[in-house]
Amino acid sequence: MSASQKVVIAGAGIIGAVAAFELSRAGADVTIVEARPGPGEGVSAASFGWINAITFDPENDPAIYALRQNAFRAWAALERALDCPLPAHRQGALFWGDSVAETMEALEGHRKAGGNYKLLNQAEIAAMLPQLAVPPETALYAPEEFALDVTATTRLLLKAAAEAGTTLITGTEITAIESKGGRVTGVRAGDTRLEADNLIVAAGTGSSRILAPFVQDLGVKASPAALVTVTGNFPQTTCITDSPELEFRVPTPGLLISAHSMPKGEDPEGTLAQRTVDRAQRVLKETGEVTVQSVQIGQRPFPDGGIPLVGPVTSLPGAYIAAAHPGVILAPAIGATIRDLVNGRIAGSGLQPRAV
Ligand SMILES: Cc1cc2nc3c(=O)[nH]c(=O)nc-3n(C[C@H](O)[C@H](O)[C@H](O)COP(=O)(O)OP(=O)(O)OC[C@H]3O[C@@H](n4cnc5c(N)ncnc54)[C@H](O)[C@@H]3O)c2cc1C
Repeated sequence: MSASQKVVIAGAGIIGAVAAFELSRAGADVTIVEARPGPGEGVSAASFGWINAITFDPENDPAIYALRQNAFRAWAALERALDCPLPAHRQGALFWGDSVAETMEALEGHRKAGGNYKLLNQAEIAAMLPQLAVPPETALYAPEEFALDVTATTRLLLKAAAEAGTTLITGTEITAIESKGGRVTGVRAGDTRLEADNLIVAAGTGSSRILAPFVQDLGVKASPAALVTVTGNFPQTTCITDSPELEFRVPTPGLLISAHSMPKGEDPEGTLAQRTVDRAQRVLKETGEVTVQSVQIGQRPFPDGGIPLVGPVTSLPGAYIAAAHPGVILAPAIGATIRDLVNGRIAGSGLQPRAV
């Protein structure tokens, strides 16, 4: 890739940041444009950040399962390339179902698909999570699973991308795409025009709007989810825990964060706040008073069918879309795929590109 190849990236979330890092390291002249005041302030800021395969049923989509399994190596490779530790919470992950049968069924599904998890008994679970009120009879443990502080990771990637020549423009919205002879030539970003040989649309739920003149229905919907942070007597950091009642981790003593799907009805924030307090007090013992610190609702970019949408825009040569859920797990594969496509190479990440 030559330094004269101008690439504009729309959106400085985790996906845009990995793409900027990969493209600038490959030698492109990269500018990344973010509408918000800073990078990583979109849905990435509300993310639980869990790099996981343990909660995914391989039978649902063997290809996505393989990508999730590969994500641990892919994030480790990015960490080596960054030459600095990722802002990660690393104590592994614990999962159990509603019944022993459900947990064993999950284990069997993973084993058939090549996933290797440790089966823990009640005493081992109690030793790992001493604050659990009622440890389950059995659970699966994934020592290599971890969670990222996604905003901090986004910033770290963009700092390294800047050192490799990337320009970051924040507080500026991309409002139009310019083209000549049917090919992308630039974008309108705030009051200025930026020249572009390539445009990467990594704008999360804002992607459809940017591409609307060229793609009638991108098929990326906004899917809300919430991150609730509470304080209380949580004396020890814990592994990531996915129990039937609560998905949580304690990244630092005294602070519990948990991820939730959206409840129906009025006042979802209030419902989620109360739900988290109640469940934290039920699942854990001796929590003391549990106080809600924040309820963040994020709109996840959810491509139709749940399949990552990463590939060229057929009606606009030079432009690419990069939208996926779960975007943090898949970000390294997406960034590498975008780099290879822009470079005119066959994508080597294992992620199947899809043209729109
Ligand atoms: C509660 C919750 C828990 C989650 N847990 C996990 C998890 O454990 N693991 C996981 O992998 N995923 C998880 N996710 C999903 C994950 O957070 C997203 O898939 C990921 O952050 C998407 O990254 P992104 O870069 O595509 O989007 P974003 O972070 O939203 O980045 C897109 C950026 O584009 C900008 N933008 C939009 N329009 C324009 C424009 N016109 N011009 C310039 N900039 C623009 C936006 O401001 C935004 O900053 C979770 C999400 C939520 C809400």
